Amino acid sequence: MEKIVSLCKRRGFIFQSSEIYGGLSACWDYGPIGVELKRNVKEAWWRAMVHSRRDIVGLDASILMHPRVWEASGHLAGFADPLVDCKECKERFRADHLENLQKCPKCGGKLTEVRKFNLMFKTFMGPLEDESATVFMRPETAQGIFVNFLNVQQAARLKPPFGIAQIGKSFRNEITPGNFTYRTREFEQMEMEFFVPPAEDEQWYGYWKKARFDWYVSCGIQPDHLRLRDHAKEELAHYAKSCCDVEYNFPFGWSELEGIANRTDFDLKQHSEHSGKSLAFFDEETKQHYFPYVIEPAAGADRATLAFLVDAYAVEGEGKDARTVLRLHPALAPIKVAVLPLSKNEQLVPLADEVAGSLRKHFMIDVDLTGSIGKRYRRQDEVGTPLCVTIDFDSLEDRAVTVRDRDTMQQERVAIPELLPLLHERLG
Ligand code: ATP
Repeated sequence: MEKIVSLCKRRGFIFQSSEIYGGLSACWDYGPIGVELKRNVKEAWWRAMVHSRRDIVGLDASILMHPRVWEASGHLAGFADPLVDCKECKERFRADHLENLQKCPKCGGKLTEVRKFNLMFKTFMGPLEDESATVFMRPETAQGIFVNFLNVQQAARLKPPFGIAQIGKSFRNEITPGNFTYRTREFEQMEMEFFVPPAEDEQWYGYWKKARFDWYVSCGIQPDHLRLRDHAKEELAHYAKSCCDVEYNFPFGWSELEGIANRTDFDLKQHSEHSGKSLAFFDEETKQHYFPYVIEPAAGADRATLAFLVDAYAVEGEGKDARTVLRLHPALAPIKVAVLPLSKNEQLVPLADEVAGSLRKHFMIDVDLTGSIGKRYRRQDEVGTPLCVTIDFDSLEDRAVTVRDRDTMQQERVAIPELLPLLHERLG
């Protein structure tokens, strides 16, 4: 894991937030390469969940919501983790993560009684900092979808089964953040609420478990590094009838990437009750109102990005021949093609600029002029660039370039007019 953290910093994937001030714990900033990777992860999710389906639409709700939303959802009363402190070393733990509540796992000291700690961040709206002005930073994006259920359903003229998808920031004052970007206090979620007739809940629950597992595989994660884990009854959240996690085998062990839950009609009913406005769906065919059940695949953009990074990371060979390579799926790769003139020559550089210019409309391109060609290939391998295009002195004569593949390291000569179709074919 340390190697990945150091690669992330060195190559501009991820930096510690406010680093020059000593850093802000559990907050991270995505640099020039990381922001591309994370955007591509979100884009791949949106394409799979919204653009490629006729039954799911998107939403972008605000982070701050009416405080009563959190009363209705149960977060105000129940979104709390059990907390214990070590009386000696002062370390803080989540009680549900400890096997022994008598002894500190770090120093063996005595632990305090278990206390409940609400994970929602509070802030104030308007100039008065009093109780009536308190608002919360949303701890999940889902509630923005539930309160808009009828707005979206009516505007888009949808009938269950249908879904509403959203990507956005969420905030949780986690007791024990850590493992790099795995558990942070500010993070981005990719959530979809799929509203179904109650009798179809089991069928759709099974469908989404499989579809979500398959999505990670289609984006390049090796299937044996993933597993589905069904929650036991005692583990279920207050609103859930059943829940299953997609887990990834991180260097720190199998851990949740995404949860797929059957949230029943809990949220729509709660908001109807608390707001006094019914969120029941009216079925034109049967002329009846009913509350759909909700199947929710809830993923984290940061956790998914970390899993894609970990899974793609490889070191090949040894000593000075060793190369670090990120075998990212081309759809996720931050830079798709690097254009490399063999040297900083006054004829090669303009041709490289010309080639790069013609490709830039189609792909995220990098042009790298510095260092030996071998070093430049290694630099591109490290950030997962699938293809490099090298321009050499022969290119000036034959208007052809060399295309080098990240994974096989094989090279082939391609005429410049044939370059674009070849790159499209390779990058998919
Ligand atoms: P955990 O048990 O790890 O705290 P959770 O079960 O509370 O997670 P959910 O409420 O199901 O998580 O949230 C859905 C997804 O949002 C998670 O699967 C994860 O990918 C992401 N997520 C939740 N909390 C965090 C966090 N603190 N940092 C980064 N991502 C998070």
